[in-house]
Amino acid sequence: MALLEFTSEGIYCPKAGVYLDPWKPVKKALITHGHSDHARWGHQRYLCTKAAAPVIRHRLNLTDNLETVDFYEKIFINNVEFSFHPAGHIPGSAQIRVSDGGEVWVFSGDYKLEHDGISEPFEPVRCHTFITESTFGLPVYNWKQQKEIFNDINDWWRKNQSAGKVSVIAGYALGKSQRILRNVDPSIGRIFLHGAIRSVTALFSSVKDLPETTYVSPEMKKKEFEAALVICPPSALGTPWLRRFDPYSLGIASGWMGLRGARRRRGADRGFVLSDHADWPALNLAVRETGASRVFVTHGYSSIFAKWLTGLGIEAHEVRTQYEGELGEIAEGGAEENKTVGEQGEENKPVGESIDPGGAGSQDVPGSALRLDDEENHDI
Ligand SMILES: [Zn+2]
Ligand SMILES: [Zn+2]
Repeated sequence: MALLEFTSEGIYCPKAGVYLDPWKPVKKALITHGHSDHARWGHQRYLCTKAAAPVIRHRLNLTDNLETVDFYEKIFINNVEFSFHPAGHIPGSAQIRVSDGGEVWVFSGDYKLEHDGISEPFEPVRCHTFITESTFGLPVYNWKQQKEIFNDINDWWRKNQSAGKVSVIAGYALGKSQRILRNVDPSIGRIFLHGAIRSVTALFSSVKDLPETTYVSPEMKKKEFEAALVICPPSALGTPWLRRFDPYSLGIASGWMGLRGARRRRGADRGFVLSDHADWPALNLAVRETGASRVFVTHGYSSIFAKWLTGLGIEAHEVRTQYEGELGEIAEGGAEENKTVGEQGEENKPVGESIDPGGAGSQDVPGSALRLDDEENHDI
C-alpha cells in the first residue's frame, strides 16, 4: 500500500483515510488553497491552513466542518503525520507533507518560488516522493522578475494618464489582483476595485500594507476615474461594466500573456506576463531541492515535464487529475471552449522556441468544467 494513491476521487492516503484536494465529494479533505479546482464543494470535512481558511469558508459557505492548522503544525491521522508548508502561490497556500514510518511524500498543489509580497514565501520540503504541478512546464516559460513587470505596469499607467486614458487591468480575483494591488506604485494615482475583487481582498486578513482603494460603485461619474488604475477580474472583460471608464487602456496580467494571440483574443491593449505558478527554471529547482527520487506530475505540460525528469535520472510519472492550472484561461475564450490546446493551432503555441511540442498538444482543456461562478476565482 502506497502512502498516497491517485484515485478517481483525488489523491488519497489509504492509511489515514483522507484525500488531498479531491475533486469528488469525500468524507475528509485536506485542502492546499482556495482556488476552485483545489477547494471543491461537497466534502464532509475540510482541513486547511488558518491563512487559507477565510477564503475557503466564504467560497464554499462552510461553517463548523472546516478545521484549520498553522503552517508547520504536525497533526496525526491514524498515526500518519501531516503538516502544511508555504507554497508561495497565493496567501495561505500550502504544500502538504505526509510522513509515515520514515517515508515522506509532499503534495505541492500549485506553487511559485518568487516572493510576491503577499503570500508566505515558498519553502522546499525534503521528501522521497514529490507531487508537482507543471502548468508552465516548458523551457519557454521563463518569467521576468516581478519588479520588472511592475515597472512595466507603472509605466503603462503613467503613459495612459498623459494620454487621458483610464488604466484597466484584469487579474483573477483570488491572489493575482491582491498581488497587483500590493506591488503597483500608489503614488501614481487613485486605485479602484471591481466588487468581486473588493470582497475577496477583504477576506485576506493576512495580507498587510495594501494601498488605499475605492470600490467602483454604479453611481460614480466618469470624472472620478480620471488618471486612475482600475483592477477587475477577467470575467468583467467584454461586459458593459467597462464602458464607464471610456476612454481606457486594457491590460491583462496572466502567465498566458506570453502566449501568442492570447492578448489579442481577450481584446487587451497590453499583456503583462505575471503568473502565480512556477516557470520552467523554478519547477526544476523545486524538484531538485526536495531531493525526491520519485516525482508525480499532476497538471499542465505533465507528460513533457515527466519525460524531462526521467531524462535527468529521476523516476517520474504523469498522473491524470482534475486540476486546471492556468489552462482553464484558454477555455474561457468563448468560441475556443471545449477544444484542446492542440486543436487551437498556432495561436496558443508559446512565443519562442519549444522543446518537444509533440506532447503539448495532448492536454485536454477542461472547458466544460468551467462554471461562470468559478471564473472569478480561477487561476490564470
Ligand atoms: Zn491555484
Ligand atoms: Zn490549480
